[in-house]
Amino acid sequence: MSFPVLLTGAVCVGVVLLARWVRRQRSFPGRDSFILLHLGSLWWLAAASLEMAAQAPTCKVFWATMAWPGIIGVPTFWAVFLWQYVNSVRQPLPSRSLLGLTLVPLLVWLMALSNPWHGLFYGTGTTPMSAEPGAPVRYDHGPLFHAAAVYVYLGMTFCLGVVIRAAVISYGVHRRHYLAFVVVTLVPWAANVSYVVFDRTLFGFDPTPFSFAFTLAAFAWLIVGVRLFDLLPVARHLLLEELLDPVLVVDPQWRVLEANPAALKLAGLRNGWQGRKLIDWPVFGAELHALLQTSWSGEQDRLLTLAGPARYYEVRSRAIERVTRSGTHVLGQMLYLRDVTQRHLGELKLSEALATSEERLRIISSLHERLQEQALRDPLTGLYNRRYLDEFFSREVARARREREPIALALIDLDHFKALNDQHGHLIGDDVLRAVARHLGENLRGSDAVFRIGGEEFLLILPGADADEARRRLETLCRERAATPVETRGGPCGVTLSAGMAIWPDQGQALDELLHAADAALYRAKREGRNRVCSPA
Ligand code: GH3
Ligand code: MG
Ligand code: MG
Repeated sequence: MSFPVLLTGAVCVGVVLLARWVRRQRSFPGRDSFILLHLGSLWWLAAASLEMAAQAPTCKVFWATMAWPGIIGVPTFWAVFLWQYVNSVRQPLPSRSLLGLTLVPLLVWLMALSNPWHGLFYGTGTTPMSAEPGAPVRYDHGPLFHAAAVYVYLGMTFCLGVVIRAAVISYGVHRRHYLAFVVVTLVPWAANVSYVVFDRTLFGFDPTPFSFAFTLAAFAWLIVGVRLFDLLPVARHLLLEELLDPVLVVDPQWRVLEANPAALKLAGLRNGWQGRKLIDWPVFGAELHALLQTSWSGEQDRLLTLAGPARYYEVRSRAIERVTRSGTHVLGQMLYLRDVTQRHLGELKLSEALATSEERLRIISSLHERLQEQALRDPLTGLYNRRYLDEFFSREVARARREREPIALALIDLDHFKALNDQHGHLIGDDVLRAVARHLGENLRGSDAVFRIGGEEFLLILPGADADEARRRLETLCRERAATPVETRGGPCGVTLSAGMAIWPDQGQALDELLHAADAALYRAKREGRNRVCSPA
């Protein structure tokens, strides 16, 4: 029992313990192949240690021959394991595939075992290195050996390719993980190349099986110890479970493949939902389906409105795609329903409040306008009152100055109105006032204005009219008034009027002056017998 034999034995025990430990861990993709890889490694190491322990050269060659199922099995299961691991294949290998995979190791084993008959595996030059008992054997490799070696290298190249590809197409923490895989995969390559090309040995022996033992331990640690591929999906799953907003995954046929508890709660479903078409989902299925069918610019979120106690969800959808060499394939989409009920109700209330206050503002400003208008108008006749007179007059004077035109003013007073009141009553007097006001208003031109400035006194302002024109128009009014009795609630009632004129700027610049002059003219009209128009003397 030499030290190398003991060490190899210890490594064998280590591999067995490692395999046991891995078996007890939570499953990971390719675990079965990984354990078969341990088995192959163990076989190889055990045969190697027995070869080392054996003294007779024939014995050594026998154990070297016995190593072949392990030697071929290792790259075979290694390739399968890595392929399953990087592609997340969790199903165990079907037994038919397993049988197929053991075919090559068994075939090579048979070829090595039958070497005494054909000598194509180890040649006749296979002899001990020295005459010392137990000296290592130098092997004379035949064509079948080389064929087996090619298989091993192809397998190892495939392994390297798989992990390099995985490292290239992944990113972030996954890429680092796969890069570590690449480094670990390179170790057996380095050991093998140093043995084959530089003749480096470990205790006069091929270091490759030992390097595999290291690789196994490193992989086991990377996979089970780091738990990268377990942790992230579990964490993501937890996140989805805990999310208060509904999340669904649908395939291109709108079948729901995945739904988180929030989605199930909203739909009131417990089980039997997997694969059910979205449109058939209770509560929101049909609405959501219809919403997703409508064309959408993508600028704003789509709003799903559910009746009952009104609920609002902002719907976001994201295509789940797989990019392959032949193009992008849509595998389905993830639907995320963000509950915005509170916010939406708040917005609705706010806009309601805004609309109400806008309406109020509108009412207030129209009231304000009416009030302003009312303040300027006489309630009985609807004519302008004195309050508006000053403003109107100064504006007209400014214009008349610009346009160099006169303004005619006429003070109109109803004749014997007191007597009319006394005879027919105040109400009929009011009717007469209204009718006279209407008659005056009907005879106005665009820029003219009529004011009620006293009980039965009116002021006509005719911008642009000179004395002649004003007189002509006033006399017409006077005539018409006298000719047609006004309609009152007590029947037709005859009334006449007298008018006194004044012209701006002839009779004065200021309104007071002009009113004074007009009043004097009116007084004259009364004195001269009423029902007439008088100009200032
Ligand atoms: P004169 O021809 O000289 O103008 O005689 P008159 O009776 O019209 O005299 P005066 O101008 O002094 O009388 C005005 C009358 O108008 C007095 C009042 O009874 C009446 N009056 C004033 N305001 C109103 C009103 O708003 N409604 C009614 N019905 N009568 C009014
Ligand atoms: Mg009067
Ligand atoms: Mg009068």
